[in-house]
Amino acid sequence: MAETDCLFCKIRDGAIPTTKIHEDALSFAFRDIKPQAPTHILVCPKQHIATLNDLRPEHEALAGHLLAIGAKLARDEGLAERGWRALFNVNRDGGQLVFHIHLHVLGGRPFGWPPG
Ligand code: 5GP
Ligand code: ZN
Repeated sequence: MAETDCLFCKIRDGAIPTTKIHEDALSFAFRDIKPQAPTHILVCPKQHIATLNDLRPEHEALAGHLLAIGAKLARDEGLAERGWRALFNVNRDGGQLVFHIHLHVLGGRPFGWPPG
């Protein structure tokens, strides 16, 4: 998919009005429109990367940054002690619907294992 057709690139650029709860030089975060838990945040790189399959060695610091921001936002939401879940869906079997990588930060309820 071309970057111009990407939903999360449009959110990044403000073409789809969305309240960002975090933004820095490398990343941005916002609340999921269809939350699967009391807290459901998506953390995205500003750079368009379609899936985790497309991560290259030069993206390693960026990938770590997404995790660090996700953990900070989880702390800010008061989830750290009780616990929360971080996940990336990848391609069809992984349940990925938007092909611009995003870290799901989910919390505020217990989660089962194995995941559905
Ligand atoms: P995926 O299945 O690709 O891992 O997750 C995509 C997520 O994006 C879903 O949880 C979905 O609810 C969320 N989403 C889809 N469209 C929008 C939107 O326009 N705004 C927001 N805030 N979230 C969206
Ligand atoms: Zn994109």
